[in-house]
Amino acid sequence: MPCIYICGECGAENEIKPKEPIKCKDCTYRIMYKKRTDRMIQFEAR
Ligand SMILES: [Zn+2]
Repeated sequence: MPCIYICGECGAENEIKPKEPIKCKDCTYRIMYKKRTDRMIQFEAR
């Protein structure tokens, strides 16, 4: 199941599937917050 992530830059909600790269579709920012948690997760893009 895809997870909903909140963009750390513009706040847009992005549905990211497990094998997709973590990246905001609006602004291409790569730091996303997982919805429903306060924990910040950071992903390194290739
Ligand atoms: Zn964004």
